[in-house]
This record gives sequence, structure tokens and C-alpha cells, in this order.
Amino acid sequence: METILLVSHVDPDGALPRAALESLAAARTLGAPVTAALFGPSVERAAQGFAGTGVSKVLAVEDGALATPRYATDAAAVTALAKAAGASLVVAPATSRMARVMAGVSARLGGRIDTHVTQLLNEGGPAVVRWYYRQRIEAKLRRKERPWVLLVDPGAVPAAAPSAGAAPAVEKVAAALPTARTEVTGTRAPSSGEQTIRPDAKVLLVAGAGWTKKQADGAAHPERAEALILSFLRASGASLGSSKSLVDQAGEGQKVFEFMSHLNQVGQTGATPRHPKGLATCCHGEEPHVVGWRFIRERRAVNLDPGCGWARGKADVLYVADAFAVMEKVNALLGTKR
Ligand SMILES: Cc1cc2nc3c(=O)[nH]c(=O)nc-3n(C[C@H](O)[C@H](O)[C@H](O)COP(=O)(O)OP(=O)(O)OC[C@H]3O[C@@H](n4cnc5c(N)ncnc54)[C@H](O)[C@@H]3O)c2cc1C
Repeated sequence: METILLVSHVDPDGALPRAALESLAAARTLGAPVTAALFGPSVERAAQGFAGTGVSKVLAVEDGALATPRYATDAAAVTALAKAAGASLVVAPATSRMARVMAGVSARLGGRIDTHVTQLLNEGGPAVVRWYYRQRIEAKLRRKERPWVLLVDPGAVPAAAPSAGAAPAVEKVAAALPTARTEVTGTRAPSSGEQTIRPDAKVLLVAGAGWTKKQADGAAHPERAEALILSFLRASGASLGSSKSLVDQAGEGQKVFEFMSHLNQVGQTGATPRHPKGLATCCHGEEPHVVGWRFIRERRAVNLDPGCGWARGKADVLYVADAFAVMEKVNALLGTKR
């Protein structure tokens, strides 16, 4: 029988990351008991997040040095936790903090690692599912080597639901953290504006290059487009995606939205986000873009062109309409709802 360890950092506010509960749900499908492990300056609040999820024990490394992500200290903490658990399977959510250290942890443990896992399967032994070649090929993998370290992609598995009740017992683990040579003095975000990428949002709004093109009156209206998009994001809590053409315009010296960077790009050479619903606006719906919509379950698009890519089986609903007018109306409706 496998010894399964679910390991995660705690969030900056001390809470358990939602992605950790998703990885826990994935790990539980293997049918063996799951021990949890947390690291951070204090794990008390995060451990409470496991109440009612079937986790009986939480191993913990607590140290002030773990308040900020740092490769040397994070890797040492996770390695100590995995050794203390004697884990044969080490499952972690693929947050940027865990993704940065888990390959190194696997090497320190003498194990093997697989990343971008979307499903764990119990087939008499553990198997994992992941996608290759920009989500075009789905593969199922098994490995003989142990420990086997698995990074589970956020958004792939519904999260385990905690309930009110007692937190699992916390057992402290000693870890020899190296003396930190780096100090985090602040954060610089890649885009100058507000945070527009929200992986947990229910809706993805995609903005295409049409927002910056000449409109029926012969002029482009990028400022109005910017205001419409931002109002929708603020009122709906949606995440913002973009086509490649729109984010590439910055490189050509054209007007591009302040709050948008290449990190927003969805598609073959961009991201493949996971949201229940998506709305594409002023975006043509070409294959290299739509391939990034693979995991968006309900797709709608607004485009002036009835022959655009979305009309060819790529969207569930295409509104042949002016996105400026549609979003104006949608924002007004959202305003009344609030
Ligand atoms: C190797 C390769 C990789 C690529 N990778 C990606 C990728 O990862 N992601 C990606 O997005 N693209 C990618 N592309 C580019 C892709 O093929 C398209 O060129 C790009 O997606 C087009 O962006 P767009 O639809 O925003 O712009 P356009 O093609 O310019 O379309 C603009 C659309 O806006 C509509 N429009 C204009 N005004 C309005 C209005 N008022 N109301 C409603 N609609 C309006 C127009 O009808 C038009 O359909 C890749 C291409 C290649 C070759």
C-alpha cells in the first residue's frame, strides 16, 4: 500500500490554498489514507482548513523564514516533511511556489516527478493522467520508482469540501533550514495596472484585437474599450484573457491596455485556463487561440462577423453584434444587480 502525503505551503494570510484541497481530492481517489503536510510561519489556520476532509494528521514545519517563498528554505522544509512521512507518493498543488521547488525536492529524495497532473487513478496501483503537446494528447502514466512526486494542476479536480469541526492533530517536524542569503523586500507585478488574472473566477472574459481596431465611425476607441472591459471585470469578478494579436500590439508601439500583458494570452502559445464559462469579445476565434479554450465548459462569443471562427463549431453561442454596445448593456445590467 502506498503512503500518500499531500504537501502545501500556507497562503500569505495563513489560510490553506484552495489548490491544496483540490490536490487532496485527487489524492483521495487512490483509496489509501492521506497524511497532510504544511509549511509556513504558522500552520494553525491552514490546518483548520482540513477539518472534515478525512485528513487525520497534519505534519508541519513552522519557521519565520517560510513567510516568503524562497527556494532554499522551501525545498528544505518539504524534503524534511516527505522524509518524516516516509511517503511513497508526494502530491502537491502546482501553485507557482510548489512548482518551483518540487523537482529539487524529488531529486533530494531520490525520487521521480511528474508535473501538470490532471487526475489520479486507482488501477490496482496509482496512475496519473496528464496532457501533452499543448493539451492535444492525453496520456496515462505509471511509474515503478518511489517516492513519486506529483504536481496537480489547479482547476483540474473539484476541491475537497471542509466542514466545521475539529482540525486534524498537528505534529511538528524539525527541519534544518539553511541560513537565508536572500531577503524579500517587496513585490513587483508584471503588469502596471490591476490584477486581472483570476484563476478561480467563474467567468473568463477574452478581449481580442478588435477592441483596438477602427469601428463603424472610422475611428478606433481604445479608451472606451479599456473602460468597458475594466468595468465588466470589476463588477463580475471575471478573469481576463486575451488573444495573441492584442497583447502583441504593445511590441508594435500601438495602444494596448495598461492592465494587460502577455500573461493574459490564451491559446497555443499562451495559457489554457480552466473556468466554467468564457465570453470572447472582438476576437476572431482562430484555431491557435481557441485551442487554449479546451477546458472552458461553456463558450460564448460576441463578434460583428457572422463568419468568424467561433461560428464554426467553436462556441456554444455566437452573438453577431457590436461588442461595444453589448458590453455597455451588460455593465449597465450588472450595475443594477449590485
Ligand atoms: C504558431 C502560432 C501560434 C499562435 N498562438 C496563439 C495564441 O496562443 N493565442 C492567440 O490568441 N493567437 C495565437 N496565434 C494567432 C492567431 O492565429 C490569431 O492571429 C489571433 O488569435 C487573432 O487575434 P484576434 O482574434 O484578437 O484578432 P483579429 O484576427 O484581428 O480579429 C479581430 C476580431 O474582432 C472583431 N471585431 C472588431 N470590432 C468588433 C466589434 N465592435 N464588436 C465585435 N467584434 C468586433 C472582428 O470581426 C474580428 O473577428 C498564433 C498563431 C500562430 C501562427
